[in-house]
Amino acid sequence: MGSYRDYYRRSVEQPQEFWGEKAALIDWHRPFEQVLDGSRKPFAAWFRGGLTNLCHNAVDRHLAARAQQPALVWESTEVDRSRSYSYTELHREVQRMAAILQRHGVEAGDRVLLYMPMIPEAVFGMLACARIGAIHSVVFGGFAALSLATRIDDARPKLILSSDAGSRAGRVVPYKPLLDEAIERATHKPAAVLMVDRGLHPMQPVAGRDLDYATERAAVGDAVVPCAWVDATHPSYILYTSGTTGRPKGVQRDTGGYAVALATSMRDIFCGRPGGTYFCSSDIGWVVGHSYIVYGPLIHGMTTVLYEGTPVRPDAGILWRLAERHRAQVMFSSPTAVRVLKKFAPELMRQCDLSSLERLFLAGEPLDEPTASWISGMLGKPVVDNYWQTETGWPILGIAAGVEALAPKAGSPGVAMPGYKVSILDESSGRPVPAGEKGVLAIDWPLPPGCMQTVWGDDQRFVDTYWSNFASAQVYSTFDWGVADEQGYVTILGRTDDVINVAGHRLGTREIEESISSHAAVAEVAVVGAADAVKGQQAVAFVVPRDAARTADAQGRTELAAQIMQTVQVQLGAVARPARVLFVGMLPKTRSGKLLRRSIQALCEQRAPGDLTTLEDPAALEQIRSALAEQP
Ligand code: ATP
Ligand code: MG
Repeated sequence: MGSYRDYYRRSVEQPQEFWGEKAALIDWHRPFEQVLDGSRKPFAAWFRGGLTNLCHNAVDRHLAARAQQPALVWESTEVDRSRSYSYTELHREVQRMAAILQRHGVEAGDRVLLYMPMIPEAVFGMLACARIGAIHSVVFGGFAALSLATRIDDARPKLILSSDAGSRAGRVVPYKPLLDEAIERATHKPAAVLMVDRGLHPMQPVAGRDLDYATERAAVGDAVVPCAWVDATHPSYILYTSGTTGRPKGVQRDTGGYAVALATSMRDIFCGRPGGTYFCSSDIGWVVGHSYIVYGPLIHGMTTVLYEGTPVRPDAGILWRLAERHRAQVMFSSPTAVRVLKKFAPELMRQCDLSSLERLFLAGEPLDEPTASWISGMLGKPVVDNYWQTETGWPILGIAAGVEALAPKAGSPGVAMPGYKVSILDESSGRPVPAGEKGVLAIDWPLPPGCMQTVWGDDQRFVDTYWSNFASAQVYSTFDWGVADEQGYVTILGRTDDVINVAGHRLGTREIEESISSHAAVAEVAVVGAADAVKGQQAVAFVVPRDAARTADAQGRTELAAQIMQTVQVQLGAVARPARVLFVGMLPKTRSGKLLRRSIQALCEQRAPGDLTTLEDPAALEQIRSALAEQP
C-alpha cells in the first residue's frame, strides 16, 4: 500500500496516466485512443475511441473463473422467498431478457424504462439493456402515476418493463394501475409493455401492447445474444435525481468511464474482494442501487445481495441476519436506515455472527455523530461515511482504505476521492475559502470518469445548472455547503438552499440538526427555516422522539422541547435556538431516504408543499400539518 496523498495527487495532476492505468481493470473490445477528450468543456469524454460493454464486464468476463459462484442472491421478506443465480445462470437469464427486448424492436440507443419491484428480473432488465446497448431508465417501483408519466415523456422509452405489484412492509402495492394511468397521461406511448406476473395482484392486459414475461421467456428459450460493443461514451442509462430540491434532472451516464470508475471504487474505496459478498440494502431506483447493487459488485466479480424488504420487518435484526447468512464482506446502507434501527433494542443484532463483515458504508445524507458512534460501537468494525450524488455515480468524499486506511474524522465523510478536484468556494466571490471556513463544495473540471455526461436531452440545462454558478465556467457546483480542515477532510453542512437566515446570521440546518440529535431522547430531526416578520427567518424543529410515550401529552412535549432548545442554545448559541420544537411520529422523506425539507418549510409558511413526486409516505406530511396546527 502506498500513501493516499500520492495516489490522489497523481489522479488529479496526471489524470490521463492515472485513469489510463485504471482502465486496465475492465475488458475492452477495442482500446481507446484518448483517455480524456476535453475539446468541449465543460463536457468531458472519457476513453474516446474505446469499445466495451457493461454487461460483458459485469457478467460474461467472469464466466471462465466464476461460473458456479453465486452472482445474484435475492432475498425477499415481503413474499418470504429467496433465489440465487450463479454467474452462469445470470448470463442465461440476461440473454433471455435481451432476446425478448430485441424481439420487440429494442435496439442500441433505444430507451427502456423499468418500473419494477426489487426482484431479480429488474437486474436482468438492466443488464439486458446494457448488453444490447439500449439505455435503461429505472423509476422507483410504486411512484405515483404523474411522476411516472413525466419520466415517460422525458425518456421516451420504446418498451417498459414492469410487474403486477410490489410489496411494502407486507402490503401489496399494485403497480399495473399506476402504470396504465401513467401511460394514459403521457404524450409518448411505448410500443410494448413487458409485465412480470408475480401473482400478487390480478392484471388486465392491454391488447396489442402488454406482453407476459413468462410466455416471452419460454418463447426465446436458451437464446444466445452477444454483447454489443459500444463506444465508451455511449449512454448506459438515464436516472432522475431524488428531487429533494426541485424538478428532478435526468442524469445521463456513459459506459466506459462508468465501468472504470466503479471498478476503481470497488477495489480502492470499498475494499471488496472478488468472490466475496456485497450487501447493499439500497433500492435499484436510486443511484446507490445502480452502482453498488448491480454494476459495481458484479464488475468486481463479487456476489451481490438484492433485498426486497424493510430494515425492521419481520424485526430489526433482518439486515444483520442476511449479512450473516450470506457471509457479507461489505455492507452499504443509509444513515436513515441506521437511525431507524437505533430505535430498537440491539439484542437481535448481537445474536448475529458478523465475523465475515469488514466494513459498513453509509451514504445519502449527513451521518450524525451519535448515529455513527452507535453503529460502529455495535459492530466493532469501521463504519465509512461517503458523500456523493446521482450526478457523480460514485463517491466524491470518503476514505479509500484500499489505498491507505486514513483515520476517519467524526462528522466528515472523509477526503476527496481520486480524480475529484474538490474545493470550498466563497459563494459570492467564487474564490477558495481558507481551511475551517464554510463555502460551497465545488469540483474543478474535469469530473472524473463515471460522472454524469449531460442532462438527458438537454445539454444546455447541464451547463446552466451545474457549471454556471461561479465566474469560471469550469467549476461544477454540488449545491452543498462544506468546510474543509487542514488535512483535507470535508464536512458537509447541508444544501445551499437549506440555509436559515436568522436576524442576519446564516445557519446551516445540518448544524442545528446535529445539535438536536445529540439529545438522548431524539431519534430523528428535521430543521427548517420559516419566514418570520421580525427576524427574517426562524428555525423550526420537527423531532421524532425515541420514546413516543414521552411526548404523548402537552406537559411531556413542553418539557422535552425546552430541553432541546436549551441544548442548541448551549452548543450553538441563542440565534440558532429553534423558535418551535414540534413532535411527530415520522418525517417526510423521498423514496431514497432524504428529508424533504422544502416541503416541510412550505407547510410552516402555509404554502402548498410543492412537487411531491418522490415523497415516500404522504402520511408524514399530514403529521407535520397537524403538529403545526395542534402543538404550540
Ligand atoms: P435533487 O438534486 O433532485 O434535489 P437530491 O440532491 O436529493 O435531489 P441525490 O443525488 O440522490 O438527489 O442526493 C445527493 C445529495 O445527498 C448530495 O448533494 C447531498 O446533499 C446529500 N448527501 C449524499 N451523501 C451524503 C453524505 N454522506 N453526507 C451528507 N450529505 C450527503
Ligand atoms: Mg441534488
